[in-house]
Amino acid sequence: MKTVSAEEMNKQAEFSDRVKNMMAHRSPKALVITYGCQQNENDSERIRGMLAVMGYTFTENKEEADLILYNTCAVREGAEQRVLGNIGALVHEKRRRPELLIGLCGCMAQQEHMAKTIKSKYRHVSLVFGTHSLHKFPQLLYEALLDDKRVFSVEDSEGVIAEDVPMYRTGDPKAWVSVMYGCNNFCTYCIVPYVRGRERSRQPERVLGEIKGLVAQGVTEISLLGQNVNAYGKDLEEDIDFADLLRMVNSIPGVRRIRFMTSHPKDISERLITAMAECDKVMPQLHLPFQAGSDRILKAMNRHYNQAQYLDLVRRVREKMPDITLTTDIIVGFPNESAEDFEETIKVLEAVRFDSVFSFIYSKRKGTPAAEIDDKVTDDEKHKRFDRLLEVQNRISREINDACFGKTYELLVEGESKTDKDMLTGRTPGGKIINFPKKNGIKTGDYVTVTVNKTNTWSLSGSLTEN
Ligand code: SF4
Repeated sequence: MKTVSAEEMNKQAEFSDRVKNMMAHRSPKALVITYGCQQNENDSERIRGMLAVMGYTFTENKEEADLILYNTCAVREGAEQRVLGNIGALVHEKRRRPELLIGLCGCMAQQEHMAKTIKSKYRHVSLVFGTHSLHKFPQLLYEALLDDKRVFSVEDSEGVIAEDVPMYRTGDPKAWVSVMYGCNNFCTYCIVPYVRGRERSRQPERVLGEIKGLVAQGVTEISLLGQNVNAYGKDLEEDIDFADLLRMVNSIPGVRRIRFMTSHPKDISERLITAMAECDKVMPQLHLPFQAGSDRILKAMNRHYNQAQYLDLVRRVREKMPDITLTTDIIVGFPNESAEDFEETIKVLEAVRFDSVFSFIYSKRKGTPAAEIDDKVTDDEKHKRFDRLLEVQNRISREINDACFGKTYELLVEGESKTDKDMLTGRTPGGKIINFPKKNGIKTGDYVTVTVNKTNTWSLSGSLTEN
């Protein structure tokens, strides 16, 4: 049974009530700290939703929080070390306030070896639960509060779908909507299939119902989310794929912009490219991870495409959508990547000219096949390649942004600029950020048109176009 039963969800609602009654005298506050991808951000919205139902309000201040919960990422070792460091530093706060409850959840917690480490070395952490136990959070929190005991829930599972988990959203005009969970691809470097389970799609009516609810709350931009959205529907009885789902979302009144991520190049069908081009609300933006340019490395990564197929896919996408913004993920220094292999990655960068690139140095993940490879490439060499890649991409991003000078774009206003409080910031249909001066009457959630008058490598500035 993939979907969590209504009985189980009712049981969790009862635990919510119990926590609420138990904590009512304290007006409890929670701090939820999120690491990693949009899926984790989306999970944190659920965690906050459940906490709000349990009577918690939210704080950014560790010293006034009754509950500090880390929702973690396992994709790279660096992020894991940071979480462990932050949790370790909380030992003093826990000594000062023994009633403080510290928890860890998400992908890190789903790894058995990590749960063991927390159990033995971080004894001030009382609540640990993996990705498959998210919907049981009310019960787990109740148990941790009741006897002041340590609660661990790290189930080994192919994953479930829990509908009707309360969500806490902040009035943002944009929202992420999960359409599927998990991944079946087992790229040899990636921990995701082990911590997020197998691919499972939500029923289309559930996805559409959630989006209609968001529109009723004022949301106009929807980003459809999944580890591999293009596999949507493969596991459903209904004959439906991601292209069909895009068309359905496109027809919902009140939705103005649709985006989605992440796409696996091997699963992008001609039907999907056509749907993207034909649906007026689907934004001209595609995140298409290529990871490495060398066919030898792509094979070792188990990616199921080669360089020529990837480049042909980009050509077909651009044929139908010439102005599309393309972004990608790249791993530098996969075990035993040679200098020639790396040159193939640079070749793809120069051939495609992505608008921006998310590049990472390979991070060894325990339990994945690539972690077993005896890697002969030095860290120094990997860093040199990484710096070279950044240099090439920074030049390309700058050239692409410079070409935006003088052009006019429609922006969805997202709020105040993070770097200048006199400016507002918004995104173009292609997803580029443009900052522009504040003006009375213009607020978050509005759509405005702006003409670019200054370009940078990572952002653009502009002025409002008078209508
Ligand atoms: S497609 Fe590959 S890289 Fe992406 S989540 Fe699945 S296994 Fe990981």
